[in-house]
Amino acid sequence: MNPATNYQQLVRNLEYLKLKQMNLHLNEVVDFGIQNQLSLIDTLIKLTNYEIDVREQNMIQSMVKVAGFPHLKEIKDFDFTFQTSVNQQQILDFLTLRFIERNENIVFLGPSGVGKTHLATAIGITAAKKRTSTYFIKCHDLIQNLRRARLENRLEARLKHYTKYRLLIIDEIGYLPIDQEDAKLFFQLIDQRYEKRSTIFTTNVNFKAWDEIFQEAKLANAILDRILHHASVVAMVGSSYRLKDHFTTESE
Ligand code: ADP
Ligand code: MG
Repeated sequence: MNPATNYQQLVRNLEYLKLKQMNLHLNEVVDFGIQNQLSLIDTLIKLTNYEIDVREQNMIQSMVKVAGFPHLKEIKDFDFTFQTSVNQQQILDFLTLRFIERNENIVFLGPSGVGKTHLATAIGITAAKKRTSTYFIKCHDLIQNLRRARLENRLEARLKHYTKYRLLIIDEIGYLPIDQEDAKLFFQLIDQRYEKRSTIFTTNVNFKAWDEIFQEAKLANAILDRILHHASVVAMVGSSYRLKDHFTTESE
């Protein structure tokens, strides 16, 4: 059997090292290098960039996937002309992720359908794409999970798990009442993240009425205190985007 040519050896090496993209683009990059009289270094940069680009892309996709967003709506899908109660510049500032650097929170407050979850998700997707560990969860599910963990004697581990995310999005606080025991679990999580990690909250309940969600004023205050100490509150008003077409049809 003829010994392998150097070219064949190189292809085998790339296969062995699982450098699939470099293998895929090898001929094209070698041709390009020769035609343009590139140095070896420049040719290698071009070749390795193919591998890096795909890996970055995969990494971003998996960061977004594990974050568990309810949908993949981004800021480009948000119509600021429909939702005029938000300051667009403030939302764009959130997208710079400056608030995460400063361990600050964001609260989207407003009635159903005004775009709270959409904006929270859009910020979360931006963070995940920048490789910030991000997780989206509905408040009710979060509490269920903490409660189950406590029953199974692994509350500490669960709290630690939710504390480690650089950005946690807790959606829909107040849609369902939370009993006192559950409120204590929620408080523990908020307390552990306080001043260490950023959290985005969405709620349809004014802060004054949080006593009713948590069914105890002292606990509600302790929770609110920590959430609001370093937070931007985005109060949103307007009619539901979900119903906008109904209203237009009716008024026409
Ligand atoms: P909320 O969480 O405030 O109840 P959502 O963010 O879930 O509301 O919004 C309801 C639906 O309407 C979603 O499909 C969302 O993408 C869409 N939506 C809301 N506001 C806007 C907007 N200003 N531009 C585009 N889509 C919007
Ligand atoms: Mg919502």
